[in-house]
Amino acid sequence: MKRKEFLRLFSLLTVSGTMMPLNLIQKIQANLEKTERMPVLFLGHGNPMNAITENVFTRGFRKMAEEIPKPKIILCISAHWETAGTFVTAMDHPRTIHDFRGFPAELYEVQYPAPGSPAFAKEIQELASGVSIGLDDQWGLDHGAWSVLKHLYPGAGIPVIQMSLDYRQPPEYHYNLGKQLAGLREKGVLIVGSGNLVHNLGEVDWRNLDKFDYGFDWALEAKAKMNQFIRDRNHNALIHFEKNGKAFEMAIPSPEHYLPLLYVLALQDDHDQIRLYNDLAVAGSLTMTSVKISPE
Ligand code: ZN
Repeated sequence: MKRKEFLRLFSLLTVSGTMMPLNLIQKIQANLEKTERMPVLFLGHGNPMNAITENVFTRGFRKMAEEIPKPKIILCISAHWETAGTFVTAMDHPRTIHDFRGFPAELYEVQYPAPGSPAFAKEIQELASGVSIGLDDQWGLDHGAWSVLKHLYPGAGIPVIQMSLDYRQPPEYHYNLGKQLAGLREKGVLIVGSGNLVHNLGEVDWRNLDKFDYGFDWALEAKAKMNQFIRDRNHNALIHFEKNGKAFEMAIPSPEHYLPLLYVLALQDDHDQIRLYNDLAVAGSLTMTSVKISPE
């Protein structure tokens, strides 16, 4: 804490000779100073093994991190945390959750010990108007978050909090909630959506799980259309993805891996540039396309 901030906090603490409640003190500490406008990222996470594998995608993640300012805090909306209602993680030390089965022991040993920030979680809760956001002390960091953040920020020194997906809500809800987070971009917060734009596990070609640049016709068609909509800033077409025909139906059999994109797009403004990374299909029915939205 800088001296000036300490003095301000001290003067507040001693107003009328009474101590402030602890939650108010925490809120002051979480109040992040204004920064340059942060980018927003959508990361295609794919196979959990990407967490411990060196490949074209993990190199893409590292490149993205090298190109952007170092965040003060990360807010991650992961496909792998669905709840009734919207929650943010609010513990000091989120655990690393190994939410998958049948992978090598090595993957279960990975830890990503980034701190949390109860004060920042509370700030988000108070930021959203018309939406009730709950504080969660049970979840932690699921592989949608840590398997990619591990490549962007291997030191795990930046606090991370997750926001859940309310599975009861329509796509517009997610887009509108994303819009309410816009002010965080100017407080050094890196907002990350983690999922996969084309994600149909029922159609995966298991014999070719690691075959990159390999997509079925419908997957490639959906990928091309999604990319075009993203580049054209046609958010309406992406929000109403259910109206885009058969290829989209196959690409998005359930919405949880797609919806994090809507939070990211909602944070885009007219001055932002759009860049696509890792734009390859894998195993026939998945795409790893990642999106960077940034002021330059
Ligand atoms: Zn996933």
